[in-house]
Amino acid sequence: MDMRTRRQLLESIRRAHQADTAHAAAHRAHVRAATAAAHARPRIAGDASHQLSADDLAAGQAAYEDLARRERAARAKVCRTFTAARAANSALGTLYAPHARGRGTGGRRRSDVTAGILGELAEAPRDLVLAADAIVVSTSGGKDSVVCADRVVALAAETGCLDKVVMVHADLGEESEWPGVRELAQRQAERWGVRFLVVKAEGGLLGLVEKRGLWPDAARRLCTASLKRDRIAPLFTQIANALGLGEQALILSALGIRAAESPARTRKMPLALDLRASTGRRMVLTWHPILDLTEADVWHRIADAGLEYHPVYDALLPRLSCVFCVLAGRDVLVRAVRLCWALGLDLPARYTALEERIGHRFKQQFSLAEVVAEAARAEAEEGALLWARGDVLRRHVGERAAADYLRRLDAAA
Ligand code: SF4
Repeated sequence: MDMRTRRQLLESIRRAHQADTAHAAAHRAHVRAATAAAHARPRIAGDASHQLSADDLAAGQAAYEDLARRERAARAKVCRTFTAARAANSALGTLYAPHARGRGTGGRRRSDVTAGILGELAEAPRDLVLAADAIVVSTSGGKDSVVCADRVVALAAETGCLDKVVMVHADLGEESEWPGVRELAQRQAERWGVRFLVVKAEGGLLGLVEKRGLWPDAARRLCTASLKRDRIAPLFTQIANALGLGEQALILSALGIRAAESPARTRKMPLALDLRASTGRRMVLTWHPILDLTEADVWHRIADAGLEYHPVYDALLPRLSCVFCVLAGRDVLVRAVRLCWALGLDLPARYTALEERIGHRFKQQFSLAEVVAEAARAEAEEGALLWARGDVLRRHVGERAAADYLRRLDAAA
């Protein structure tokens, strides 16, 4: 199957999904409208038997007729969206039929067809890069982001597509993140000579929690959605518009996530169709170029390629996340508090004050105030946190490779 056919099929899948979603929404709206009308009818009958005034009865009757009219309109929409969904799915079946055994989608579910096409595409990343109109690499400035960007940029350079690459950083501000994160992400982009864009998430995590009066958690991870994903999403529209193509643009959205990070990430595929961000004007494929890497692989690549990383890793924090990430474990949070103190940051006091003000614990299992108390005990027993530049590399790639890395980085500075 050639690239053009795959793209046509993916677009047909997107349309079928969109049509099904519209039909499901219409169905839900009809159920609501029908329920409201059904409730209004006995009320009218009851009112009549209680001999209300003619004016009140007329008003009740008018309200009921309005609800009945809405129910009929909602029912008509269900029929329209059903027809549209059937047409979209039938178009997909016709398009896929030459590539399938049997009729329609050959008995395969749409999700299997999608996975098959995306799986083939993911196995040919050079073709993917060549076919893309733009490649957006989301970067937190962290170790996985920089290795992801390194892979994407290497492929783009090999295929003469470096001008398609843009690195995007969601800046949550220094009330949420460690100092120097945005500047680091910018230096990483400048190293390869690719465009660098920043989207600001005003208020950051602190502002979000202040507004909601609740900390996010793993089940309701609103912070990533509202502070990162939703800020970056409008860029896809801007990029597609700037391309000014007479046809649907193909945008690759590269993310530096790894399967080894969590069970949820183990279930991710190397390539996915972003149905939320895709429209008739742009197809957005989410690409996970380093899904297969382990943490050790990442540090080896950083050492080998001389990629700059943030100093918090040397203080043995495993992720360059928000200073107090709601997903972090207790020991990491204790270390983050001690690192704040070592760097002279007042964030522990500000976050615990917020926790007290809103009356909602940072985590169900423990409060941030408890974490700060534990950090204070550790400081009293062990003294202030100490670390040296290159410590994380010494742990992961060995003394000699770390020394070599530092020498090369200093020489390049
Ligand atoms: S780093 Fe943690 S706290 Fe910050 S946005 Fe991501 S999940 Fe939320």
